[in-house]
Amino acid sequence: MTDTHQLLHDIFGFSSFRGVQEDVVERTLAGENTLAVMPTGAGKSLCYQLPAVALEGAAIVISPLIALMQDQVRSARANGIRAASLTSMSDDWRQVQDDLMSGKLDLLYVAPERATTDGFGRLLEQARISLFAIDEAHCVSEWGHDFRPDYRLLRPLLDHFGAPRLALTATADRRTRADILQQLGIGEDGLIVAGFDRSNIRYHVVPREGLPSQLKRLAKAHEGPGIVYCPSRAQTERVAEQLRGIGRPSAAYHAGLEKEIRQGNQEAFVRSEYMVMAATVAFGMGIDKPDVRFIAHAGVPKSIEAYYQETGRAGRDGEPAEAWLFWGADDFARARRRIETEVEPERRAGERERLNALGAFVEAATCRRAILLRHFGEDPPETCGNCDNCLNPPETIDVTVAAQKILSAAFRTEMRFGVAYLAQVLGGDDNEKVRMNGHHASSVFGIMDAEELKLVRPVARALIARDALRSDEYGGLSFGPGAKPILKDEETMVIAKPPKKLRGSRRKAAQ
Ligand code: ADP
Ligand code: ZN
Repeated sequence: MTDTHQLLHDIFGFSSFRGVQEDVVERTLAGENTLAVMPTGAGKSLCYQLPAVALEGAAIVISPLIALMQDQVRSARANGIRAASLTSMSDDWRQVQDDLMSGKLDLLYVAPERATTDGFGRLLEQARISLFAIDEAHCVSEWGHDFRPDYRLLRPLLDHFGAPRLALTATADRRTRADILQQLGIGEDGLIVAGFDRSNIRYHVVPREGLPSQLKRLAKAHEGPGIVYCPSRAQTERVAEQLRGIGRPSAAYHAGLEKEIRQGNQEAFVRSEYMVMAATVAFGMGIDKPDVRFIAHAGVPKSIEAYYQETGRAGRDGEPAEAWLFWGADDFARARRRIETEVEPERRAGERERLNALGAFVEAATCRRAILLRHFGEDPPETCGNCDNCLNPPETIDVTVAAQKILSAAFRTEMRFGVAYLAQVLGGDDNEKVRMNGHHASSVFGIMDAEELKLVRPVARALIARDALRSDEYGGLSFGPGAKPILKDEETMVIAKPPKKLRGSRRKAAQ
């Protein structure tokens, strides 16, 4: 057998494997099934490409993104690997099929929808298959953040051909991993997890308070290229304009832009050494720009996995980089409403849990990196020395009593008012609206002093983040499942002490 190091050098021109690559490659060459969980940039493609060349027959790569397949084929071919894809975009079907059957292909990329058809199964019968690589394997799990039902139908194909399976993903928490192993029929000893720590990235998480100035300050403090992820297309345009307003080259990127403009902006960004791209999350996949110096999130990402992946686009060159997350209670309120109205019922529990994990992350007064790494199943040190909470340990305060008062106020005012109104009632503001609603006579009227009132917004924000309070689209607050344990004194609540002067405190924290 050819030495794998020799192949590594001959095919890819690399002198050594990185991290777990060698393990994964060796297992696959030995015919064993593997699930490799490796962060973005760890070099997943090599893990199946090298065996694909070393083993006889064609490796079938299941990949969910047809748009990226073309790139994958191109870059494999650039390394002299005989690669092709079968998609609606390939115009050389007959050729590809012939090559596959006559053993002239090392790698065949195919989408799960196609892989699970009878026709594809019959095609494979006439070919020799070296291995199955299942890319973005988290798509097989309902616990994953990107469930694709077609992935569930792959199993019969895998079982039928019996070639070694190599599932790969950058993002899978413990539960998703267990699910992938089970769904794809890979034994527990087949799980290989690479280190997730991106030690050169410094994490900061702060409440959103006057976002335009927060972003401008950030852009001024960092000269290098940056990406600002925005929740909406319109916001990408606004942010780009605001940054141009302070003289910083900046452009927008979202799916609604014309293709030429979008591509032009992307190319300008890749070339630039100081441009800031204001983009939706559509931006970044498949882009190779190692010197991104900061990533900012203008609103909370979809999940911790998504956050890790998106921030992971900073500092691929290993030089110091920063990740800034600007969050607001309304991010959580909106996400929760989306779960209850747009997500299929059987997936809601998983989505809620993901959102709660994110809530705990933004609220935390402890090391951010440790939280991230624990989320990915690692056992990191308590502190990292390179995140906001480690560099500037926040003073914490026990706000259990304030939280109980806020929850009681929501309850006593029929759970339909926003945080501003609750603050009026709690503070004993005897105004017309309060009077008209009869809340001046309720048991929660005036039970907070001026000092405690300052906590209403940060505590309400934290209550929303942990799903103790839910906000409707008008800001009206009602109980979520997290309310009871706090009211019943079964849970305490500790938050990072808010700064003395609450910046932008006139803005509605829950809106
Ligand atoms: P992933 O799919 O895990 O995000 P890629 O497969 O795209 O990562 O690889 C990321 C980069 O690392 C690529 O530029 C690749 O050429 C490079 N790379 C992968 N393995 C090695 C290695 N052993 N030595 C040096 N560079 C590597
Ligand atoms: Zn830390």
